[in-house]
Amino acid sequence: MDKVSVFFQLKEYDSLCRENDSLKKQKNDLIDRLKTRQGELQEAQSQAQALKQRLRELDTNLLELDRVLSQRLSEASKEEVEEKALQVLIEQQKTEELLEEKKTFLLGFEITVAEITQESNESIQDLDRKLHHLKTRLNLLFESFPTDWQGMIERVQAKNLSLGNFTRTQEGKCALCRYKLSLEVQSEIDQQLKLKVCAGCSRIFLPYQVVSGSRA
Ligand SMILES: [Zn+2]
Repeated sequence: MDKVSVFFQLKEYDSLCRENDSLKKQKNDLIDRLKTRQGELQEAQSQAQALKQRLRELDTNLLELDRVLSQRLSEASKEEVEEKALQVLIEQQKTEELLEEKKTFLLGFEITVAEITQESNESIQDLDRKLHHLKTRLNLLFESFPTDWQGMIERVQAKNLSLGNFTRTQEGKCALCRYKLSLEVQSEIDQQLKLKVCAGCSRIFLPYQVVSGSRA
C-alpha cells in the first residue's frame, strides 16, 4: 500500500473518531433529557404525596375540633374552636383542589414520561449498536497502522481534545491552534508525507493531499 493510501486510512480513522464522539454526545444528551423528565415526574409525585399527607393531618385536626365542640364550652371558647374549624375546612378545600390539579397533571405526564422513556431507550439501543460497529472498525484500522503511528494516536487521544485528534496545515500554521510552522516542517508534512505532531496542540497533521481528497 502506498503512502497516500495509508494516510487516507488515517483520514477515515479521524472521521470515524468524530462520528464516535458525536454519537456518544447524542447518547449522553438523551440520557440527560430522560433523567430530567423522570426527575420532574418524581417531583410532581412527591408533591401529590405531600398534599395527601396534609389532607390526612387536616382530617385529624377536624376530628379533634369536633370532639372539643361536643363538650360543654363557654360561648367564647365555642366561637374560638368554630373559627379554628372553619380555617381547617378552608385549607382542606384548597388542598383538595391542589391535589386534583396535581392528579390531572400526573395522569398526562406519567404517560408522556413513559413514552419518552421507551423512545429514548430505543434510541439509546440504536446508538449503542452504531457505537459498537464503529468501535470494531476503529480497532481494525488502528491495528493496521504502523506501531509509531499507533503510539502517536494513543498519546493525542489521551489528551481528550475537543476538536478531534487531527489537524492540517493552513497558510503555514496549524489549522486548529494557529501554531506557526517552518517551511521545512510544512514540506515534511505535505510533500514528504511524514506523520508529524503539532508542537502547539499535539494534534497529528494529515497531509494536504489527503485532507483535500486530491493526490498531488
Ligand atoms: Zn496545533
